[in-house]
Amino acid sequence: MRILITGGAGFIGSHLAERLIADGHSVTALDDLSTGRRDNLAAIAGNNRFRFVEGSILDAPLVEALAAEAETIFHLAAAVGVKLIMEQPSRSILTNVNGTETVLRAALRDRTPVFVASTSEVYGKASKFPFSEDDDLTIGATRNLRWSYACAKTLDEFLTLAHVREAGLPAVILRFFNTTGPRQTGRYGMVLPNFVQAALEGRPLLVHGTGEQSRCFGHVADAVEAMVRLMQRPEARGEVFNVGNDQEVTIRQLAEEVIRATGSRSEIRLVPYSDVYPEGFEDMARRLPDVSKLERAIGFRPRRPLAEIIADIVAEKRAAMAA
Ligand code: NAD
Repeated sequence: MRILITGGAGFIGSHLAERLIADGHSVTALDDLSTGRRDNLAAIAGNNRFRFVEGSILDAPLVEALAAEAETIFHLAAAVGVKLIMEQPSRSILTNVNGTETVLRAALRDRTPVFVASTSEVYGKASKFPFSEDDDLTIGATRNLRWSYACAKTLDEFLTLAHVREAGLPAVILRFFNTTGPRQTGRYGMVLPNFVQAALEGRPLLVHGTGEQSRCFGHVADAVEAMVRLMQRPEARGEVFNVGNDQEVTIRQLAEEVIRATGSRSEIRLVPYSDVYPEGFEDMARRLPDVSKLERAIGFRPRRPLAEIIADIVAEKRAAMAA
């Protein structure tokens, strides 16, 4: 099958591209390299079923041309990460809204099956746990630009579902909870790669707030498995799913686990949010996915344990430091 991946040089996109090439498909990766890297695609760059196109999802003629050749589209390109969203809010909003509009319009032409990446951020400050797909979404005030990411992704979901309803677009929406693993960059505030790098370099692990906020970390290989299976199931079309691991860990425990796994002498240092983010920044105390809908649909749920995720990131970073 000919497959287009937007954001294909990114963290999740590059793992997906490798998996699809291994499964025998032909893959085109479109990416503007804003947060992605060509290096992420090194393992498949020489494969004759793989092509990299440097360009933007905001370039409608380019997206239309690539979509016209594709039998399936995975739309992952986005401005990602709380730090980036806080630093470049207008650019992030426009990429995430207009970019998705452009990709969906291109998919509509031939009603090409399209996967749309959403995020657990859409649940905002919801306080009913675990988060289920039909729950109400509770975001904060517009003055706090952090919520623009959640809002833009929510609008992406609405637009996708509107095209499903009006034009029968075969689309699937997946809300990723924290997905991590090798190749995730720490540059835009992603916690686990930052902790591992700091631990390996003997620097302090900076834990924001009290460190009692909890998250669930899923392995990128599990997320890719879910994506591939979902696009094989016609029943999944027109539906929204959570994907994530449902094992909770506080950020302080996460830092302790990283120190144990690396044998590092780094200290854990608590840093007030006000030192890292603009005034009024809000963080969620908990984020826990209900993945039962996903499991019913595809017979799979992410289960790789945190220890395996940390070990894989440590191995990657140690290899990079030795090179
Ligand atoms: P990433 O930053 O590695 O991937 C995003 C990719 O999109 C990058 O390669 C970037 O260069 C590319 N991109 C950005 N703007 C573009 C544009 N205008 N045109 C073309 N390419 C562009 O991040 P990721 O973690 O791989 O995220 C992939 C998707 O998954 C995103 O849609 C993100 O919102 C979603 N997501 C990820 C997580 C996670 O924990 N990793 C959580 C929730 C949602």
